[in-house]
Amino acid sequence: MTSDTAALAELLRRSHQVTTFTGAGVSTESGIPDFRSPGGVWTRYDPRDFTFDRYVESAEVRASSWAMRREFFARDPRPNPAHLAIAAIERAGRGHGVITQNIDGLHQLAGSTHVVEIHGTAREVLCIGRTPRYGMPEGCGFTAPHTWALEQVDAGDPGPTCPECGGLVKSATISFGQAMPPDAVEEAERLVTSADLLVTVGSSLQVWPAADLPELAVRSGVPLVIVNDERTPLDAIATLVVRGRAGEVLPEAVGAVT
Ligand code: NAD
Repeated sequence: MTSDTAALAELLRRSHQVTTFTGAGVSTESGIPDFRSPGGVWTRYDPRDFTFDRYVESAEVRASSWAMRREFFARDPRPNPAHLAIAAIERAGRGHGVITQNIDGLHQLAGSTHVVEIHGTAREVLCIGRTPRYGMPEGCGFTAPHTWALEQVDAGDPGPTCPECGGLVKSATISFGQAMPPDAVEEAERLVTSADLLVTVGSSLQVWPAADLPELAVRSGVPLVIVNDERTPLDAIATLVVRGRAGEVLPEAVGAVT
């Protein structure tokens, strides 16, 4: 075990309200590319196409968005040792909650029970109405598991519509141009400020506003640990930086205290 991993284990040993904040890097070892992975999904799809307004305006963008979801779930991503270690913190009675920027649902599959998904989830779809504007869904309340929409796509409908009101159906993710859900943001802030340790894992800490949460922790006197395989802009304010792969660092550190 490196000295940094041992230092993380020691901080975990002293903590009983650990909040974990995760980004795309916690899921790369499950085979889900982050924004920079070579050959990853973002080298083939342009994230600028997936704004809320473009989704509403363009049947082509909707079809492309469902094709991307189909490709994502066809791989049946599973939790990796990093997700499992984070769930083990909770099982050991030291967990306060998990905040994630990811939309893949892998923390829940790993066994974490209190997960705040600040960018929504790809495992659900919802009606957003016929012509919503300004990134504000105005659907009839219809929701369904993502498998419902993918079945429509597989049956030949490139852009499923709401069976109840005929509105557009969209993945329950927060697209570019959409506000983050206020309830999730409020709960994320509570989990950060009332923790006794915040561990960020696999996030470049560059995407606003989620990158504010670690700063909020430090302002609130909560020690911050950053686990990432490259530098982040917040390394200088962290109590501890552990440079390495999440799926190796976390099981080692958590295994030493559970
Ligand atoms: P990011 O892509 O900006 O940063 C990921 C960071 O994790 C990078 O610094 C990378 O070097 C690091 N990393 C990659 N693999 C790692 C590993 N195995 N161990 C340790 N570090 C590793 O991701 P972000 O900060 O989450 O922001 C990007 C946005 O993209 C978020 O809004 C997120 O919602 C979205 N996104 C989500 C998924 C997903 O749901 N799995 C995938 C791609 C993008």
